[in-house]
Amino acid sequence: MGNNSNKLLLTLVICRLIIVIPGLSIDPSVDGKLSIDPTDVEQASLDFGLLTRRQPLAVLHPGSAQDVARLVKAAYGSNQGFTVSARGHGHSTNGQAQTRNGVVIQMSRSNEGSELESGSKPPRPRVWARERYVDVWGGELWIDVLKSSLEYGLAPKSWTDYLYLSVGGTLSNAGISGQAFNHGPQISNVLELDVVTGKGELLTCSEDQNPELFHAVLGGLGQFGIITRARISLEPAPQRVRWIRVLYSDFSVFTGDQEHLISLHAQPGHQKFDYIEGFVIVDEGLVNNWRSSFFSPQNPVIVTERVLYCLEIAKNYHEYSAETIDQEVESLLKKLNFISTSVFTTDLLYVDFLDRVHKSELKLRSKGLWEVPHPWLNLFIPKSKIAEFDEGVFKVILGNKTSGPILIYPMNRDKWDRRSSVVTPDEGVFYLVALLRSASEKGEEGQSLEYLIDQNRRILRYCDEAGINVKQYLPHFTRQQEWMDHFGSKWDWICEMKREFDPRHILATGQQIFTPTFSSSSNMASR
Ligand code: FAD
Repeated sequence: MGNNSNKLLLTLVICRLIIVIPGLSIDPSVDGKLSIDPTDVEQASLDFGLLTRRQPLAVLHPGSAQDVARLVKAAYGSNQGFTVSARGHGHSTNGQAQTRNGVVIQMSRSNEGSELESGSKPPRPRVWARERYVDVWGGELWIDVLKSSLEYGLAPKSWTDYLYLSVGGTLSNAGISGQAFNHGPQISNVLELDVVTGKGELLTCSEDQNPELFHAVLGGLGQFGIITRARISLEPAPQRVRWIRVLYSDFSVFTGDQEHLISLHAQPGHQKFDYIEGFVIVDEGLVNNWRSSFFSPQNPVIVTERVLYCLEIAKNYHEYSAETIDQEVESLLKKLNFISTSVFTTDLLYVDFLDRVHKSELKLRSKGLWEVPHPWLNLFIPKSKIAEFDEGVFKVILGNKTSGPILIYPMNRDKWDRRSSVVTPDEGVFYLVALLRSASEKGEEGQSLEYLIDQNRRILRYCDEAGINVKQYLPHFTRQQEWMDHFGSKWDWICEMKREFDPRHILATGQQIFTPTFSSSSNMASR
């Protein structure tokens, strides 16, 4: 599209916003593209969960941090106001990046086709090899952060299981995977941020500069600002990974081994694994779900126990140390108590290991099983209560059909910075239990959306009644009292940071924590 027609289109979009939002004045000189294209608007009103839909007025594809600042400033300064939600890659499950009657800022580059010509795109990752960090755009996908840093033989230290998530999106939650026991979540591996606050100011923040904003934004669910740049710490990238799965029938033996392995975090590299996760097997789902490509038909798993637990561990290495890897793995495995005939090992490139879930995504997409509702439930559970959770949830509530993978792995609390916005149980070790289920339209009753949502409610009720003090990860609540309970002693500070950095409650209203101050009596309508 030519420059003149772009300008014309932009003027039309701004006119529409001005008509819908009286008193709005907006600087039309955006570098990117403000769009009311129905395809853009439709995409921004959906997410991976397919459970919630809110339609924005327009979508901004920013070309720069200044674009983000201009739009937020216009929203903040206008008489009637409008909401602004940054959308990373739209992989939330409960509408957290959506906004009704506001503007969605599409931070990830997924829509390259609709960006404007040169000069209008956000900056590409810039690696500082000597300093061992990379500066990335807030909407960059982790897969692209990985590819850019690998060009310098470097890589970030802490990951998510799936790399087609945006940096800003995971840093707004925590960003966890099997490396978290060792390096902490992704938010523990960020050195500096550029953030557009809810007043439209573009500020740099770090431990030393604007520290309150820095800590508030990390794990801050998009409430205090929009991350436009993140400086992420790097390490020399391993070349290969030895990836191992072993099975257990006894839960306490399984968690005992997991806890032993994460306690080795302070040991030298060759005396610990680099990745520790695990999952629960209550049905043949192991062979059918999207994490199962590992178990090949030549290597079938016969499930005879009602519930099995699979420990998943990995050891990174360089080709020059290939000779010692067998010994290192052997001596670590010797101390574990898994079912001795159940060792499944594979060896692959580091990049293929990190990108493993994408392969399953492609398979599920080809069968039409990716774009289905995802009533996911992610819980942090204190170590002291994990056995009770197993008894009540894995062994009773779940029944014999899980409709998706159920991950379980422990993390060390001292790798999490207490100053960030994220909340975890207050014990030295806590577990992630992730029930990553997909609903099926036509399947059995046990796989329907209603059934799975109800089962999630039963799990939460059981925890409540059993006194298991869980914290939701990627939390979803609809009432402020629930948010107050979630944040606990951090709630007052969260409110103070909100007053300071987003006083009109413009940002990330899809989280349903605060109500925009300009909205009328029907508060939820504008969320
Ligand atoms: P979105 O869903 O687009 O946004 C999430 C929230 O962050 C919204 O409130 C949004 O307004 C806000 N936000 C987005 N961008 C910015 C920004 N630049 N600045 C400020 N706020 C922003 N999580 C893990 O921790 N570990 C995993 O292993 C993991 N695996 C996953 C696998 C799959 C298949 C999926 C679908 C999700 C997974 N997640 C995992 C969850 C993921 O971290 C969240 O969905 C997260 O929100 C990132 O998704 P996103 O980038 O699409 O963000």
